[in-house]
Amino acid sequence: MTTETVRGETSSGGPELRQQRRLVTDIPGPASRKLAARKDAAVSRAVGTVLPVYVTAAGGGVVVDVDGNSLIDLGSGIAVTTVGNSNPRVADAVSAQVGAFTHTCFMVTPYDGYVRVAEELSRLTPGDYDKRSALFNSGAEAVENAVKVARAHTGKQAVVAFDHAYHGRTNLTMALTAKNMPYKHSFGPFASEIYRAPMSYPFRDGLDGIAAARRAIDVIEKQVGAGNLAAVVVEPIQGEGGFVVPAEGFLPALAAWCRANDVVFVADEVQTGFARTGSLFACEHEGVVPDLIVTAKGIAGGLPLAAVTGRAEIMDAPHVGGLGGTYGGNPLSCAAALAVIDGIEKDGLLARANEIGATMTERLTALQARDDRVGDVRGRGAMIAVELVKPGTTEPDAELTAKVAATAHARGLVVLTCGTWSNVLRFLPPLSIPRHLLTEALTELEAIFEEAR
Ligand code: PMP
Repeated sequence: MTTETVRGETSSGGPELRQQRRLVTDIPGPASRKLAARKDAAVSRAVGTVLPVYVTAAGGGVVVDVDGNSLIDLGSGIAVTTVGNSNPRVADAVSAQVGAFTHTCFMVTPYDGYVRVAEELSRLTPGDYDKRSALFNSGAEAVENAVKVARAHTGKQAVVAFDHAYHGRTNLTMALTAKNMPYKHSFGPFASEIYRAPMSYPFRDGLDGIAAARRAIDVIEKQVGAGNLAAVVVEPIQGEGGFVVPAEGFLPALAAWCRANDVVFVADEVQTGFARTGSLFACEHEGVVPDLIVTAKGIAGGLPLAAVTGRAEIMDAPHVGGLGGTYGGNPLSCAAALAVIDGIEKDGLLARANEIGATMTERLTALQARDDRVGDVRGRGAMIAVELVKPGTTEPDAELTAKVAATAHARGLVVLTCGTWSNVLRFLPPLSIPRHLLTEALTELEAIFEEAR
């Protein structure tokens, strides 16, 4: 077996992480179980854990736990460590920044890193118009701020989100999020003036992109009215909702309608952004130019950072002091983001995302051809999923999905599920995953499907 190594969780000269799947205990092992007991006594039960192995190191394509198990990472901490955990560029940049200063608050005494991240966002995001950015801490916070900006710019209040959407867990973003359990149940009342339109979901609605857009626009016009509508917020590929890739033409038609109706078109690229889908942003696959683009997760290699970037006249609409927050654009996160961007460009990570996508799609499509419980294989780049159904139907099979995921965990694969019906297995490997680990993970998954018959 190949055992390539990558630099470990510390900065230069840190321990090497062997790039192998290695199970030395049950999953979770005894040391993790002890920690889980302490967690239960100290952490709110509402904060759940998918795979309770307690981590000591991660990098390349592995996550190593306190028992010495080395698991293959197909989750990237939910699409965050796209450039790899403990990526040396990120580790070095953050270490240098920690030594210089850790925080001043950009709103008090500013610093260059924040401005440079904003400049990079202007350069990299779709659209060759004059842009401005504002930085925040989390995807949800950035989505909320995009809504604030759109309202200030348009003087209108209503916001449209879609079926299956996920935009966060704060009060406004819970309202934008579609799924009740576990995100919204018992947490209402929710923010007002949020409306929901039908999403394009080719596997389930069979509509082409134009027809699906027409259906959504009809709902918006009849139930909201363009004259009241500040923003349409959409994930170009839905994440938590099931890696739903809208039919071709849906996003461009929606964007065109927004432009014609003085409605701000907001692309939530929190999960899809920064090379995940094989282009820097998922909007680019169809040449869609959003008015505002929301980024987070993969932007900073695991440090908390999020951004709203968009047309200068929209971003400058709120009054001075209207946007901000203590930590938004923290210097450590900005240093990490600049290193991530450098790494994506210098290490050829767009090509790597596409290569990973081709490998996963080929293997999973072959699995689908011989297994009629795999209803759909979809996604782009290193954001690929399978939707599991009762054999030969479109009836969701959440039970099978949970079983496959649990077995994968026990065999040392960090996989995640998603979807409105919890019947989607999703794969979000770090782009630093060595080829042999990706292949091994796919082979193991095929075996798991076979055994789950
Ligand atoms: N939008 C999308 C599309 C997401 O996938 C997520 C997180 N899964 C969020 C917003 C919220 O981001 P955060 O968890 O950083 O608040």
